Amino acid sequence: MLFAAFSAAASASEYSIQAILIANSPGDAVAGLVMGAPKDEKVDTVYALWLIRGGGRNILFDSGFHRERWFKLWTVKNYLRPEEAVRLAGVNPEQVTDVVISHAHWDHMGGIDLFPKAIVWIQKDEFLYYTGPAWQPTGDHGGIDPDDVQQLVRLNTEGRLRLVNGDNIELFPGIRAYTGARHTFASQYLRIDGHPPFVLASDSVYLYRNLAEHKPSATFTTADYPANLKAQERMVRLAGSPDRVIPGHDALQFQKFPTEGRVAKIK
Ligand SMILES: [Zn+2]
Repeated sequence: MLFAAFSAAASASEYSIQAILIANSPGDAVAGLVMGAPKDEKVDTVYALWLIRGGGRNILFDSGFHRERWFKLWTVKNYLRPEEAVRLAGVNPEQVTDVVISHAHWDHMGGIDLFPKAIVWIQKDEFLYYTGPAWQPTGDHGGIDPDDVQQLVRLNTEGRLRLVNGDNIELFPGIRAYTGARHTFASQYLRIDGHPPFVLASDSVYLYRNLAEHKPSATFTTADYPANLKAQERMVRLAGSPDRVIPGHDALQFQKFPTEGRVAKIK
């Protein structure tokens, strides 16, 4: 009886969730984020990562970036390196146990070399595509850093990579990965079980506005827009409310939730 009570408590362990600001990106074109938005409208967005703590783990969802070539191609203001940003939430880089990568773009996968003890998790199809066909003449590697890909392969040979095989897979107790939004070849997003549950969308939903207006984020091809919208509806169902789906680049998450400096306490 005592044992049963103990195991029930253990399986119901609540995770905390924090959003951590890596940089600001003022004056982005909304039309690049919310498909069909007016051409000249601008919005201030953010680069972020998310820290999920509980059950003896410090899990990062996405890893930020640091490679210099991207600073010249994109607007990056108020930048802080990901391993320093994580310290602001009270976690040393060595204490990060796992890094779940939503997708292979430079601003999400670019920090996988900064957390020396972490196991890195990525969709198997994302790994296979961006380590192979993406770099062939008919491939698409827009937004992918070749050095990040080298690092991904290195992590695999070191036994520190886990390939997630498809949709609705439990990675940790109460944390599941989902696919289908197709921002890249095989993006994934997370549902964190709890009271209440949350969905971390990353770029499967750029802004709250995508959810409110039922407009797709950018996808791997324009043919994937319907799949993105379906995935957004599913995310709202999985979270139980659109207020608990956290978009990838929306600055509002640092206003909607209690925020100190660069760290917002989502839960
Ligand atoms: Zn992206």
